[in-house]
Amino acid sequence: MTKLRGIPVSPGVAIGHALVLDTDGFRIPVRKIPAHQIDNELARLDAAIQSAAQEAVATQKSLSNQYGASYGAIFGAHAMLFEDPAFVEEIRTIISSNLLAAESAVHQVVRSFVRTLESMNPDDYFAWRSADLFDIEQCILKHLMGGAENPLKNISEEVIIVARELSPSETATLNPHYTKAFATEHGGKASHTAIIANAMEIPAVLGLGPFLREVTSGDPIIVDGTEGIIILKPDTETLKKYEDLRFQRQQDDSKLHSEKDLPSVTLDGVIVSMLGNIEFPNEAASCRNRGAQGIGLYRTEFLYLGHDSDPSEEEHFHAYRQVLQDIGPGQPVIIRTIDLGADKFVKTHAPTEPEKNPSLGMRSIRLCLRDKPLFTKQLRAILRASCFGDIRIMFPMVCNLAEIRHCRFLLNEVMDELRESNIHFNARLPIGMMVEVPSACLMAREFAAHVDFFSIGTNDLIQYTLAADRTNEHVADLYNAADPAVIRLIHMVVQAATEHQVEVSVCGEVSGDPLFTPLLVGLGIKKLSVSPNHIASVKQVVRRLMTTDLKTLCEDVLIASNARDVHNLLVRFRETIFPEEVDGYQV
Ligand code: PEP
Ligand code: MG
Repeated sequence: MTKLRGIPVSPGVAIGHALVLDTDGFRIPVRKIPAHQIDNELARLDAAIQSAAQEAVATQKSLSNQYGASYGAIFGAHAMLFEDPAFVEEIRTIISSNLLAAESAVHQVVRSFVRTLESMNPDDYFAWRSADLFDIEQCILKHLMGGAENPLKNISEEVIIVARELSPSETATLNPHYTKAFATEHGGKASHTAIIANAMEIPAVLGLGPFLREVTSGDPIIVDGTEGIIILKPDTETLKKYEDLRFQRQQDDSKLHSEKDLPSVTLDGVIVSMLGNIEFPNEAASCRNRGAQGIGLYRTEFLYLGHDSDPSEEEHFHAYRQVLQDIGPGQPVIIRTIDLGADKFVKTHAPTEPEKNPSLGMRSIRLCLRDKPLFTKQLRAILRASCFGDIRIMFPMVCNLAEIRHCRFLLNEVMDELRESNIHFNARLPIGMMVEVPSACLMAREFAAHVDFFSIGTNDLIQYTLAADRTNEHVADLYNAADPAVIRLIHMVVQAATEHQVEVSVCGEVSGDPLFTPLLVGLGIKKLSVSPNHIASVKQVVRRLMTTDLKTLCEDVLIASNARDVHNLLVRFRETIFPEEVDGYQV
């Protein structure tokens, strides 16, 4: 049994069998074959090994010619292993005796060779050999599986996916019905992969560091997305412990769910509206079921992610109408315009050359303002949908006043076009902006004159304030919502919004973290937009607050000089409102 700790990004416990996706995204299922197909399968294996060996010999030749024989020799060694009877025979035996498909057999044999090598002598020579074995596995699989299908789209059995990394678009194609959880070597807390895992309610742990070589598809595995732990090949006692834990968490969830219709109001009567964050239209219904009073953030770029072509104006329009319809009459829906770029990457709008710093590059509103057809198509659809309910529009990643003026100018232009064509829309739909870069916080007073509302995006705000990539596990300790610099910026925005009577909400992941709820409400936030699966636990906190008690908490936090002190203040405050969680508490 091996226990590993990573970054918890989507809560819940899952117990199941691993599906290993290697670095090139091959899906390596444990697939059985009927006995009459053994010969067929062996022939497939032989052909794949032969092609892989020919490829290795060709690479050996070209490398030797270009760089010298010692480089070519690496691939010569690969070619030899393809012919090594011990290696090939073991795969053949597994196919014929265990009735396993060739892919599964290759995968099993390579993993067991690697384990033997590493247990014999974990020095550099053997580490080099095992890296080569993985390479060899890739080559054979490539020939067996014949290339480019998206392995994630066709999963048809319950699995726990383990991978080096999952991109947001790959994650968006997962079928939550079969994907019980996923765990990856790379990835950070507020990456969009993490956000989608939450949206799909799939437990997930990211940033575990190298562990894939210890797992074979089909191995039993536990993922605890609440604590950020995975356990490979758990023993019986551990399995029982996690089954009990899973049951306990389900009980807690159903208790919270039973309180979904209680008002989101503090003990002294202050209303804190709870809205939902969504990535896909069908999540609106789940927000409604969990008591959300509208959609505070619809990340519309997910209409593009995981698709080979751009959505049409009609597809935009239908998605917005569906959200309006599913969230229910009279409820607001804040549509955020396309926020592509950085980790949300689509082929149709890729930069001509890879960017060196994509998070600081051509992403989000910058991309839209330079690609007018892309932007105006969406603006038309939003305006057309605005006749059917309380639609509001929000621009992401605005950094300076010129950008917001430009957005408004283009919106007015689209409104004129619609008028000329006698197409109806709500000309007074509220216009807002995400406040998610430090420049927007510092200039919030000036921005207030140009918009009807602010929505503070803490995911990017933390990344840009602390210069810590939200997707990079190596700086996950720096990427901290409790950092006083971040909190002071939030405070600054709330003050500016209050002075200028501009509505302000928080929609980054911090808004869904119950530890931060007292602080946000204390700072003056009366509207929170959170992933559907966090609505209940945040509302539970709101219902235990006395706003008069929050003054001291906020004063203490605003003079704190480091994240640990802020964190401790928040934990101590939570203990005062949830004494039953503290050891030794007696009824
Ligand atoms: C944010 O940055 O906090 C936010 C809500 O936007 P996204 O996570 O989509 O970047
Ligand atoms: Mg953002």
